Parts: sequence; structure tokens; C-alpha cells
Amino acid sequence: MDKPVMRVSFAECPCCDGELYVTVTTGDGVFHSMKDNPRLQQDAKGYFMKCRHCSKRVALKPVPGPLATLALDDHQNCDELTPM
Ligand SMILES: [Zn+2]
Repeated sequence: MDKPVMRVSFAECPCCDGELYVTVTTGDGVFHSMKDNPRLQQDAKGYFMKCRHCSKRVALKPVPGPLATLALDDHQNCDELTPM
């Protein structure tokens, strides 16, 4: 029973329902972002990723707690294109 538990989470783009990013959390609480995820970017409004399907700016918010992880923001503006 000492096997580390690995949890894989998929986040869907709130604008197009495409797969936005994949995260893996291992038993020791380490959070891993998968290599082929969109790059996490930051601007004056906070963290975001550019959806690779619809190119929209998807807002993310840090989740407080021992795991340094991110979640989709409750408020998404799907009319907003990423600046680049
Ligand atoms: Zn999308």
C-alpha cells in the first residue's frame, strides 16, 4: 500500500470544451505540469493560458493550499483573444 498515488487531471477549455491542459499530482504532493501543455502566462489581470483549440485567453487562478496548483477561474471572457 506504499505505492504512490498518481492523480491525473484534465482541464477543459470553458470556451470550446477542448482539452486545455493536463496535470499530474503524485502521492508526495508534487504537482507536475505536462510538457505539451500551453505555456502558463501572466499579465496585469493574472495567470492565463492560450487555448490551442480556439486561441482564447483562459484565465487561471492559483489554488491556496499545500499543492502549488491552478484552477480555471470562475469568470471567463471567451470574447477575449490572447494578445499573441
Ligand atoms: Zn478553447
